[in-house]
Amino acid sequence: MNESHKEVGPGATRQGFIAVVPLGKVGIDILRVIGDSLQGILRLPVDLLDTEPLPPDAFMESRNQHNAMTIIKHLSNHYSRHTMKVLGVTNRDICNPILTYVFGEAYMGGSAAVLSCYRLYKGTESEFVSREILLERIVKVALHEIGHTFNLPHCHTGRCVMRASHNLAELDQKLNYLCDYCEMFLSEAVNEALKGRDDAPGHIDPL
Ligand SMILES: [Zn+2]
Ligand SMILES: [Zn+2]
Repeated sequence: MNESHKEVGPGATRQGFIAVVPLGKVGIDILRVIGDSLQGILRLPVDLLDTEPLPPDAFMESRNQHNAMTIIKHLSNHYSRHTMKVLGVTNRDICNPILTYVFGEAYMGGSAAVLSCYRLYKGTESEFVSREILLERIVKVALHEIGHTFNLPHCHTGRCVMRASHNLAELDQKLNYLCDYCEMFLSEAVNEALKGRDDAPGHIDPL
C-alpha cells in the first residue's frame, strides 16, 4: 500500500487513484487491510490519507446516526478532483433515509463511497466477533462499495462479494472475491477509467 499521505488529498499536485480516508478514529489494521485488498483486486495504487472528522451536517440527531449520503457528497466534493475514487471509513453508525442502517453506501459510477465498522463488530448474540472475522467483513463491504463506484450492479452468482447483504448473516455468507463476470466487468471499468492517463500502471487484462 502506498502511504504517501500528503500526495493525494485536497491541494495535491498529482492525481491519485484510490484513496482511503479515515473519518474519525479507525484502527490502522483496518485501514491497512482495506488498502491491501483494494490494491490487490483493482491493481491500482491505494493511498491512505490523514484522518478527518465526519462532516457535521451528516449527523442526524433524531436517529443518533450519520447520513451516509451526506458523507458521500462531502467526500465527492472534497476529493473527486484529486483522486479516481475515495472510500471513507468510520466507526460511527451510518444510515440512509430509507434503511435503519447500512454497512456501506455508494452511488453507482460515483467517485466516493463510505463504510461503517459500527455494526460489523457484533457476533450472533451480544458478544463481539474475532478481529479476523471483523476484518473479513470490512474488506467485503469495502470491495462491494468500491465495486458500485465502478458501476458494478448487485450480483446473484454464488457467494460473490457483489451480492446484496442486508444483515450480518448475509454478509458472512459472501466470500471476499468477485465472480468471473464481476471481475471482468470491473477490469473493463478500471481500464476505461485509466484511459488517457499517462501515469496508468498498465493495462489490466480481464480474467
Ligand atoms: Zn450493494
Ligand atoms: Zn458477481
